[in-house]
Amino acid sequence: MKILVLNAGSSSQKSCLYDLNGPVLPPHPPEPLWEAFIDWTGPRGQGQLTLKARGQKQTLPLASSDRRQGIAQMLQTLTTGEKSVLANLAEIDCVGHRVVHGGLDYAEATPITPAVKATIAALIPLAPAHNPAHLEGIEAIEAILGDVVQIAVFDTAFHRTLPAAAALYPIPQAWTDLGIRRYGFHGTSHRYCAHQAAQLLAQPLDSLKMITCHIGNGASLAAIQNGQSIDTTMGFTPLEGLMMGARSGSIDPAILLYLLREQSYQPEQLNEILNKQSGLKGVSGLSADLRTILQAQAEGNPQAELAFAMYIHRFRACLGQMLASLGGLDVLVFTAGVGENSALVREQVCQGFEFLGLQLDPIKNAQSVANTIISQPESTVQVLIIRTEEDWAIATECWQICSPKDPQ
Ligand code: ADP
Repeated sequence: MKILVLNAGSSSQKSCLYDLNGPVLPPHPPEPLWEAFIDWTGPRGQGQLTLKARGQKQTLPLASSDRRQGIAQMLQTLTTGEKSVLANLAEIDCVGHRVVHGGLDYAEATPITPAVKATIAALIPLAPAHNPAHLEGIEAIEAILGDVVQIAVFDTAFHRTLPAAAALYPIPQAWTDLGIRRYGFHGTSHRYCAHQAAQLLAQPLDSLKMITCHIGNGASLAAIQNGQSIDTTMGFTPLEGLMMGARSGSIDPAILLYLLREQSYQPEQLNEILNKQSGLKGVSGLSADLRTILQAQAEGNPQAELAFAMYIHRFRACLGQMLASLGGLDVLVFTAGVGENSALVREQVCQGFEFLGLQLDPIKNAQSVANTIISQPESTVQVLIIRTEEDWAIATECWQICSPKDPQ
């Protein structure tokens, strides 16, 4: 079965094609047959397409800045040119889309129907940078591949199990009725990493109290009990919670009122500053990339030192919150760019929880090997690095829906 995955960001488009044969899924993510990455941030919105197939890369300019045409050009490379891997696009059995916001309607991956598209469109005000790009991707596939099965895999779906006490904000009911509540994000990654962690430990997921830490440019934590998300740090939007690369995370909401009332800020300016000019970037004045901050800190830059200290302080505070929601902790999982690669972040965060009997193995932690246990055998909490594979997780959801089932 050939499954195409489309993962549209606000300024990028990642895609890959998996070929899954056999009656069961492979235990580890296989190499995709073909991978494509479109970066839309070139001059005048000009896109650049990077392809990978048979271990070789190729970069091409995109003929148009129009997203649908860009996707069409990207799909053409599946059947023509030096990175082609298919004789005909009709060989594609199913297309899976990462969709950031599914609201309250979807707790699972869902075949895309006109009603699902209408829901994604209705949620654009809650995910203005992402949901329009997902719809464009879905419609581009409809135009090119006709009635191929398309599946939406929602970032919010995993968090639909949050109990009301964790999901709702202490605001008047009339605001809650507007849909203002915690949705949570990165759900595909949190769910995938939780399953991988249980598999690595050879223990049933249902028996583990787990916190998954997805720490990339965007960052969120999830508290998982009985395999279900019971609390998470991102909220109504992906701005809440942890301090991130360029996002502030949680701040006192009255700060915004002060800036609007007393400092003549406009809502759009606040949106831009809180999402793109804050976090590590805002405090350090240098970069949203943690590697740059750590380098500057090592060179004695005081703002970089402050930014990193705040990053760790807030990480520990949010972790404490998840810990309290769970009332205990068996497994702590680090994933995504920072979580998988920064031994220093893992070490400093874990130091705050040594009082629980959590003991990292400093050598294993320093090695940063994906899909390993990095705590000491006597540690009361098992600490793991899991490589997140969101595209593979989307492909597996598609496979579960589309693969032929044995007659009962
Ligand atoms: P996104 O949220 O955009 O998907 P990623 O999960 O790829 O991001 O994470 C990207 C971030 O990971 C980079 O901005 C960088 O700060 C961080 N990162 C990657 N490698 C390292 C490393 N070796 N040390 C510290 N941070 C790292």
